[in-house]
Amino acid sequence: MSDNQTLTDAATRFRHAIIDTAAITENVAHLKSLASVGEFIAVVKADGYGHGAARAARAAIAGGATRIGVADLDEALDLVRAGLREVPVLAWLHPPGEDFRTAVDEGIELGIGTEAQLEAVAAASATVGPANVHLKLETGLGRGGAAPSTWTELFARARQFEAAGLLEVVGIFSHLSGTSAEDDLAQLKEFTRAVRLAQDAGLQPQLTHLAATAATISLPQARLNAVRVGLGIYGLSPFADRSASDLGLRAAMTLRAPVAAVRRVPSGQGVSYDYKYRASRETTLALVPLGYADGIPRQASGLGEVSIAGKRYPIAGRVAMDQFVIDVGDAPVAVGDLVTVFGDERESIPTAADWADAAGTINYEIVTRIGHRVTRVER
Ligand SMILES: *Cc1c(COP(=O)(O)O)cnc(C)c1O
Repeated sequence: MSDNQTLTDAATRFRHAIIDTAAITENVAHLKSLASVGEFIAVVKADGYGHGAARAARAAIAGGATRIGVADLDEALDLVRAGLREVPVLAWLHPPGEDFRTAVDEGIELGIGTEAQLEAVAAASATVGPANVHLKLETGLGRGGAAPSTWTELFARARQFEAAGLLEVVGIFSHLSGTSAEDDLAQLKEFTRAVRLAQDAGLQPQLTHLAATAATISLPQARLNAVRVGLGIYGLSPFADRSASDLGLRAAMTLRAPVAAVRRVPSGQGVSYDYKYRASRETTLALVPLGYADGIPRQASGLGEVSIAGKRYPIAGRVAMDQFVIDVGDAPVAVGDLVTVFGDERESIPTAADWADAAGTINYEIVTRIGHRVTRVER
């Protein structure tokens, strides 16, 4: 982070995540050109994977995103009410009995996976005007979406509602398991069959979308005419064996905090709860004001590494709710020195993927769980 001057003191005085919106814009442009599709749905659910949904959406649109995807209607409504209306917003996960009137009235596109939901959309449309629908199909993930046995009926009913002017099926989509290329291709085959059945029923969806980040990058056949990309736009890799920079992506989030205290301790000093760490010599302990409430995984106790002035230090002992400790030896670390927890690998600092390895999870979970106490600072 060379241009710290652009960051306001107040926001960076305590724990903060720098969000590089230009990185999101560039990642979208890169992935869109790689996929060579006209339609790029940027996924900003879960508050933009922890980066801030509205800012991620705007940065993605600047990079060529033509639609924004979120999980639920509350997320979609937050975006449109924040003024994001230049491209459609699509939401695909609904609670039982959802009333779609507000969403339809606000022009939110609806991912619909059951006939009951389709009926509810038609009922909403009858009072507030026509809805744009993407039919969500189960092709092998074993999760949401209409089961193959219901496709013919769902398509026929959707066509009836179209003819009645209540809705338009603008898209058909499904989601891959990513288990293997073979498994994903089997889902693609099933999806292709579904699209043909939909056409036979008289539907003419402009968009067919199946690929999320992994398939967008590594399964060209699955790109179809639209992709639905989350992780990659934030500059993170979905693959264990290829890093973000291998993929030409730049991490958009850098998590940092100032050292809050330093303490010179004698050999044998126990550190943090349960004394899982003891100083093996006289040393300096530095306190980092980030804990599991801020998304630092407690499972990474003793394993996760941070960087101070280009040098790496592992967590000493247990991560607590608000803080953790590092043993910096005889390094001249002082209160206020910046601790970088993770960021872009090209800056030779730990990455979200490193933290995921330390905690036995995936980078998706690391960034998504960064808590509300961490101030997001745009740069
Ligand atoms: C979260 C999600 C995506 C984005 O997945 P990434 O792996 O982050 O690109 C795409 N489609 C659906 C249905 C999702 O739930």
